[in-house]
Amino acid sequence: MTDYEAIFLDADGTIFDYDQGEEWALARTFQEAGLEGDPVQLLELYREVNSRIWREFEAGGISAEKLKSERFRRFLNQMGVEGDPVNLSSTYLDYLSQATFLLPGAREVLEKLQPHYPLILLTNGLSRVQRRRVEGAGLGGFFQELIISEELGVAKPGPAIFEQARKAAGQPPHSRILMVGDSLESDIRGGLEAGLQVCWLREDSSCDPGSLEPHYIIDEIKQLPRILEGGKSNG
Ligand SMILES: [Mg+2]
Repeated sequence: MTDYEAIFLDADGTIFDYDQGEEWALARTFQEAGLEGDPVQLLELYREVNSRIWREFEAGGISAEKLKSERFRRFLNQMGVEGDPVNLSSTYLDYLSQATFLLPGAREVLEKLQPHYPLILLTNGLSRVQRRRVEGAGLGGFFQELIISEELGVAKPGPAIFEQARKAAGQPPHSRILMVGDSLESDIRGGLEAGLQVCWLREDSSCDPGSLEPHYIIDEIKQLPRILEGGKSNG
């Protein structure tokens, strides 16, 4: 396999099927809270609110702690219903941390790579959710370390979290590290600015990296071992 000395993997949308987990956890949360409405519409509204607030978080505009309940406060607000956002948030995170749905082939990829590379999970997620899910999915043994933004107080795409991950991997040269992730902003821009090689897992072939130039582009995580063997760049 190609001479990378470490591989950094994003969690949500790269290893975990985040959409499925989120949908499952929200459906249970809304049901438990007695929230009425079309589940599809509730989900859409929540996702809209949530993606906006994560962009604020990534731009440094809101803390991880605040984000947890603030997204439900805004969600309830937009729905025009009364409710306790703190309570909703804790119910949701509890379910989410049990949502161990993996993307097709993810486990096999980790099995294949683990003997050859130190693998570091590098995620902007929430500590309790990510740690419980990794354990719950039986993935703990694959990773040398979990680098989680909430625990470090720094997040992708900023360079500090990539340096933390590099430290955990034994400080290989930046150019010998491959960052794999689905987010152009956090994983790809962040990885490139940190001086790493990057592999973008795009949602589908219509997605455009814009001005960014990932070293590799794949459509499914199961394609990752092949690019490592072939070393073929997508440019
Ligand atoms: Mg992701």
